[in-house]
Amino acid sequence: MTDLLDKFGPHMERYEAMMEVGTDALGLVNEKILSPTRGIINGKETILAGTNNYMGVTLDKTCIEAGKKALDDFGTGTTGSRIANGTYGLHRELESEIASFLDKKHAIVFSTGYVANLGMIAGVAGPKDTIYLDADSHSSIYDGCTLSGARLVRFRHNDANDLAKRLARSKGEEGGRLVVLEGIYSMFGDRAPMDDFIAVKKEFGFQLMMDEAHSFGVLGPNGRGLAEEAGVYDHADFVVGTFSKALGAIGGFGAGDHPFFDAIRYHSRPYMFTASPSPASVATAIEAVKLLKREPERRERLRENSTRLFDGFKALGLDLACDVVSPVIAVKCKDEPSTIAMWNALLDAGVYVNIALPPGTPINTCLLRCSVSAAHSFDDIDQIIDLFGRVVAGGHGLDQQG
Ligand code: PMP
Repeated sequence: MTDLLDKFGPHMERYEAMMEVGTDALGLVNEKILSPTRGIINGKETILAGTNNYMGVTLDKTCIEAGKKALDDFGTGTTGSRIANGTYGLHRELESEIASFLDKKHAIVFSTGYVANLGMIAGVAGPKDTIYLDADSHSSIYDGCTLSGARLVRFRHNDANDLAKRLARSKGEEGGRLVVLEGIYSMFGDRAPMDDFIAVKKEFGFQLMMDEAHSFGVLGPNGRGLAEEAGVYDHADFVVGTFSKALGAIGGFGAGDHPFFDAIRYHSRPYMFTASPSPASVATAIEAVKLLKREPERRERLRENSTRLFDGFKALGLDLACDVVSPVIAVKCKDEPSTIAMWNALLDAGVYVNIALPPGTPINTCLLRCSVSAAHSFDDIDQIIDLFGRVVAGGHGLDQQG
């Protein structure tokens, strides 16, 4: 009999090699959270620079009070899915807050951002349809396609011409055509070239879904994401996002203007067959949306912080994964052992960033990925730059980065 776990042998060796260097990079424990940008890790106060806590709302007093009140009023969990006993007034309220924030007629709340992609993609596309995916799409987008049973066509990352070629080849085929793009890509921090994609949309006709997980609340004059920033918001037929980043909660959403939009609720297995997000989480997300509306200056502050970190890294000569400023700033490293060593050295020196290794990264790169928060002070940003200067640009006793 084959032992099902035998195939993990090589993974375990890789993991053990990582553990020999220092801290478990894939199972890091936050022992205490002191603020949106400070935590205790390995017993030591650490600057948090890899949390996706873009607006720094996780410890906001109004959000916490709303969460506590929901716990008192509705209890710890809903114990059911949205179509059974798991829809509360709070879920409806959050849906109308999201729809209003996005200026879309309809919104649906899902249990996580991952589930929102599964639920929206498999909710709108089925076996007779074709989904065109950017090759660097997030795993939740790929998994949504698999669940839908639709034909999957991948095009080269951010390459609208490649998409056009593939659409031309399947002209005249039956079924609907869905193209999924991300606002800010999670690993490199680059944006989809929206003008090029919209030109292709006008030529070939398809429905567009924007996953604005990293750009909701962050980009655009009203924080609606990349499509708004690029001035093509009306072309975003569906907008998907998460509550786990700019809103500091957990859950996800899909939104759109289509008159049949609500039918997605009854054709989406990830909506129907999992428990709805807890009252406390939904209540904090409602407050966080209101907060983002009330305090647009947080977006400006995030832009200033991101630019400061980007310029600082550039001045150090680091090899950045993207040439345009965004709150996701990733440094390309030479190989896995040096990336792991530098990640540990940064942590020992007092800054936490994400480590990202193949196969979870585009073009098999090894990355030290930072995400900037509006809550970082300029002093925090300068300390991060200083530490990267010593550990990464300085090579930290390792080979110079190429
Ligand atoms: N889409 C993208 C682009 C993401 O990066 C992520 C998470 N990092 C998700 C969806 C899923 O969101 P969540 O973690 O809230 O489930």
